[in-house]
Amino acid sequence: MKYIFVTGGVVSSLGKGLAAASLGTLLEYRGLRVILQKFDPYLNVDPGTMSPFQHGEVYVLDDGSETDLDLGHYERFTNTNLSRLNNLTSGRVYQEVLRKERDGRYLGKTVQVIPHVTDEIKARIHDVAKEMGGDVIITEIGGTVGDIEGLPFLEAIRQFAQEVGQENALFIHVTLVPYIKAAGELKTKPTQQSIAKLREIGIFPGIIICRTEQELEQDLRAKISLFCNVAPEAVIECRDVAHTIYELPLKLYKERLDHLTCKHLQLETPEPDLSRWRAFVDRVINPTRRVRIAVVGKYIELQDAYKSIYEALTHAAAAHDTAVDVTRIDAEDLERGDPAELMGHVDGLLIPGGFGDRGTEGKIAATRFAREHKIPFLGICLGMQIATIEFARNACGLEGANSEEFDPDTPHPVIHILEEQKKVRQKGGSMRLGTYVTDITSGTKSFGVYQSGSITERHRHRYEFNQTYRQQMEQAGLVIAGISPDGTLVEIIEIADHPFFVAAQFHPEFLSKPMAPHPLFDGFVGAAIDHHYPD
Ligand code: GLN
Repeated sequence: MKYIFVTGGVVSSLGKGLAAASLGTLLEYRGLRVILQKFDPYLNVDPGTMSPFQHGEVYVLDDGSETDLDLGHYERFTNTNLSRLNNLTSGRVYQEVLRKERDGRYLGKTVQVIPHVTDEIKARIHDVAKEMGGDVIITEIGGTVGDIEGLPFLEAIRQFAQEVGQENALFIHVTLVPYIKAAGELKTKPTQQSIAKLREIGIFPGIIICRTEQELEQDLRAKISLFCNVAPEAVIECRDVAHTIYELPLKLYKERLDHLTCKHLQLETPEPDLSRWRAFVDRVINPTRRVRIAVVGKYIELQDAYKSIYEALTHAAAAHDTAVDVTRIDAEDLERGDPAELMGHVDGLLIPGGFGDRGTEGKIAATRFAREHKIPFLGICLGMQIATIEFARNACGLEGANSEEFDPDTPHPVIHILEEQKKVRQKGGSMRLGTYVTDITSGTKSFGVYQSGSITERHRHRYEFNQTYRQQMEQAGLVIAGISPDGTLVEIIEIADHPFFVAAQFHPEFLSKPMAPHPLFDGFVGAAIDHHYPD
């Protein structure tokens, strides 16, 4: 087993996760089995309790773990199937150490960061190696070198590398080489200082990936090489990608990142054949047509809040040789403005997941517009609940219909709290989470796209469709297209008299891959193409 550790320097948001994922892609194409994991220094036990404003999207795994959005990149860029083992926060480490302390597992000892906390971190790497196998584990350390809270992780990986030996461990540092406009120069000093900080801790990177806006000329590479003690060819340029994040593996391949990695780790592997990946990237970059999809949410100004949804749209679009232009609409703008004005020329509407009542009336207005004007619609989780409320109010005449989440006193709680959730008091990790089976009704749009009567999808919610209203809604034209095998939970609804109106209680976006778009997104984008307004 070989171990790669990816750290970040100078500033956050350098795309460390994408760099780690892209290295994973390249190593997989070299025939290696790759596992990726992320260590996050914050004290939340998992990111599930953080707002998207703080942390971006919460990515859900098959086993129901709520994880960092970088795990989404890992799953999209590689074939690795991740579990709760693959995301570790300081909060989780301390929770475990304190539990052991109370259990008397360290009886008689002073419990300390070194060795108890660091041992716990190292144990996690060993657990992943033991339980998941594979040839290479890539561990990304969140945060920026120099942060106080990241120190225990850095100390742990230093010890770990020492224990497994030089030829089995590689440190890759992702750093910023900023361009100073006034001087017309790229500056290497922040990188030198960040590497110096790492060396103080006893970590010596073998490869430095330099994020930069300008070409990294040979003399600058030589300078970084000299000051940072790496070979000149191990100073890698990583400029912003022009079109799509999926170009990144191709860029890093050009810089020979995979070759250098394998050389350092003494891995004998063939050159990767990236033709399939390249063909996919070409389709993303050179589409034959474009469609406009509106996404209406309340975190719409944030790049990261609906990450997996935007990626899933890209995958589906590429399969149709199409580009999706996303029109991001703030739900609250729809409460003030006219839906026809804001959505008049879109080819599809997507309502993503969310929590709390802010903006819900705007989403309901948008959904009504899509239903009445026969614009293709995809609702996800909260999006399905919104579609249910809209249909109840405007197609069934159930005035004041709502979700108990937004209005506990609604006369028609068409969305109500799950039975199993009624007694739940703890907030962390307590929703209906992870993979569940859904039975699909034959003859529905969903059956058509899935081509299957039984599917599994990932969930993250507390509320559900209230079946007391089922018959009344079915009579008005609502179709129950997916249901849990025991018949208790409605998982997909559709509207019969509509070109494509599908909404799911689960999150299909988490299962979409670049070359295997998710069936619901595929169907939705296909319907948007059919709908297309002339430009
Ligand atoms: N807030 C809703 C619920 O808890 C929807 C959740 C979501 O969209 N992920 O059921």
